[in-house]
Amino acid sequence: MKKNDENSLRKIIKEYNLKPKKKLGQNFLHDKNIISSIINKANVKGEDIIEIGPGPGILTESILINKARSLLVIEKDNSFKVNLKKIKSNYKDNFDYLIDDVINFDFKKLTKKEYKFVSNLPYNISVPFILKMIKIRRTIPWKEMILMVQKEVAERITADIGTKNYGRLSIMVNLNNDVKKLLNVKPSSFIPRPKVNSTVIKISPKNKYININNEVFEKIVKICFSQRRKKVKNNLDQLNINTISLLELSNIDPNIRAENIDIQGFIRISNNYENLIKENYEDF
Ligand code: SAM
Repeated sequence: MKKNDENSLRKIIKEYNLKPKKKLGQNFLHDKNIISSIINKANVKGEDIIEIGPGPGILTESILINKARSLLVIEKDNSFKVNLKKIKSNYKDNFDYLIDDVINFDFKKLTKKEYKFVSNLPYNISVPFILKMIKIRRTIPWKEMILMVQKEVAERITADIGTKNYGRLSIMVNLNNDVKKLLNVKPSSFIPRPKVNSTVIKISPKNKYININNEVFEKIVKICFSQRRKKVKNNLDQLNINTISLLELSNIDPNIRAENIDIQGFIRISNNYENLIKENYEDF
């Protein structure tokens, strides 16, 4: 069965003369069991879907066969245009494609639908893509993201407080979202085989949005983790403010490390820092 899946993907690669490009993270998924699991978990029926990086289009066609209401795909590599055109000729009413770089793509251009994102993401853009999407969610509301990422990235995103993987990425993503690991995928499910394992994750916005100054929050988290082994007070000293009183106000022990501060703790530090800065400006 697996061999058949692999052969049908090889046929498409040959038919369209597609040569997998490493720099675009082109590891194509051929394992139909994994594709079915992704489609089931994403519950695509009746949904407006955006797929990033359709490539040869096997996941793409599966989304359409499983009755998504609409599917828009964004692909950077122009050489997939021929097969995407062919898919469009079979699904004129509910499929479209854009040849574009998703990292620079302005999602404001799209009509206001509440999209679900489904993607076997290229490894090199998975973190910038996720950070971009969580940043724009206030203006471009999306419903859910089902994403295949490198296993190590999934572990950083879902890391528990106090562990070595807990850091900026875990905090930024979990501030306003819930994240679940759905399934692990072995290199043998792809052509060509990547050197790393992969994990499919689901990112869903939390019901209550924490309205915080994102720039300040990001800056605080970055500084607190600038040297993981250092006490949080010593890292925050870079800010040239009274760090002891900032941490006291935020109910954080100055002697602990950033990896032992939960998201609520970072929110308190960030809000108090913002207020301190405002007060200082008002004194002038
Ligand atoms: N969806 C296909 C599959 O599952 O077999 C291909 C997945 S492959 C891991 C990643 C795809 O993303 C490739 O088709 C690649 O060309 C495309 N890609 C890479 N960088 C991109 C970017 N910045 N914007 C949009 N697509 C990109």
